[in-house]
Amino acid sequence: MILILKPDVRRDSPEIQRVLDVAARYPKIEARVHVIEGATRSLIEIYLIGATTTVPTEPFEEIEAVEKVVRVSEKYRIIGRHHGQVEAEGFQYQGVTFDQESLHVLPGLCAVDTPDHVERMFQALKAAGITTSRMGAYKPRTSPYDFQGRGRDCLPYVFELAGKYGIRVIAMEITHESHIEEINTALDQAGSPTGVLLQIGTRNAQNFELLKFVGRQQRFPVLFKRGMGITLEESLNACEYVASEGNSRIILCLRGMKTNLGDPHRNFVDFAHVPAVQRLTRLPVCIDPSHSVGRRDLAPDGLTDIHHATAQGVIAGANLVLVDFHPDPPKALCDGPQALTLDELEPYLEDIRIVREAYERRRAAAAKHAGASAAHRATA
Ligand code: PEP
Ligand code: MN
Repeated sequence: MILILKPDVRRDSPEIQRVLDVAARYPKIEARVHVIEGATRSLIEIYLIGATTTVPTEPFEEIEAVEKVVRVSEKYRIIGRHHGQVEAEGFQYQGVTFDQESLHVLPGLCAVDTPDHVERMFQALKAAGITTSRMGAYKPRTSPYDFQGRGRDCLPYVFELAGKYGIRVIAMEITHESHIEEINTALDQAGSPTGVLLQIGTRNAQNFELLKFVGRQQRFPVLFKRGMGITLEESLNACEYVASEGNSRIILCLRGMKTNLGDPHRNFVDFAHVPAVQRLTRLPVCIDPSHSVGRRDLAPDGLTDIHHATAQGVIAGANLVLVDFHPDPPKALCDGPQALTLDELEPYLEDIRIVREAYERRRAAAAKHAGASAAHRATA
């Protein structure tokens, strides 16, 4: 059961204790207070966990501070939309709003290789007015003989350069809980010039101990990449693992599914699921066209398959685009064949703007028609 409190109720309000006291009347029910920092307001929700089917809603509805009581029937108790009864609030991090309305592009290196490449990447982002990026330091590779990432050694210059070029948020995969400590330390030593979205890669989508670990820490939000060979339901349950430990600042990233049916692409592009995830959950939805498509081939129309896949996600309302760029792809130590080059950045962003505008026009048209049919029903 979710108790949604009125927007003006604060964390230290005595009303919260009243709710907890009422909840304490019911045995085997655990109450957890969640504060959601939204773009325009913060919202408090109290989750009642346990056998709540016999718990009545009325004693909670009578409390002045309670706006709404939602009975939760689905598995995604915290991240779920519960048939539209719960709004998608999103969250703010480093002054950037991540929710189901916004759109951010995170171009960057699949894997950090040299300080010079990191600097040239950030320089290009600054020139383009972008403050969000990706930088892989810990790389989970298929072969143990492939480059495994620079690890903690690169963190000092990555964070320092991010600060120099005004990068506020960097998506960075971690493959072990100790990496969080390394990131914490490096950020503190650099004076926290930037923020980090902890990326859980597709290979760790069901590493439940790692999921619980990132759920227990509060410093960093989580960018969870859909498992490549499991159902969407299983991936959403994995996000619920993170949320159930206390961190509900989660972004779900679609990155394609592993099947030969996707050939000639690296993975079968799954961006038609953007609206499905937005309907089922409150999570902002990211797309990763680079790891989906896996190659920078040009179509006869002059756009790469990566541009086309990006457009498919953005036209469907995606909220973030995680995309590989590299100043010199042949020299990249990981995933060079799918990296776009820095001179392609501006045209790529222009393409996204065109598609986003089309998406906004589609939404406006849908709202107009919905209004017209509601009026028609009212007069019928
Ligand atoms: C990545 O984004 O660098 C990555 C390894 O992606 P995925 O986990 O989706 O394969
Ligand atoms: Mn990669």
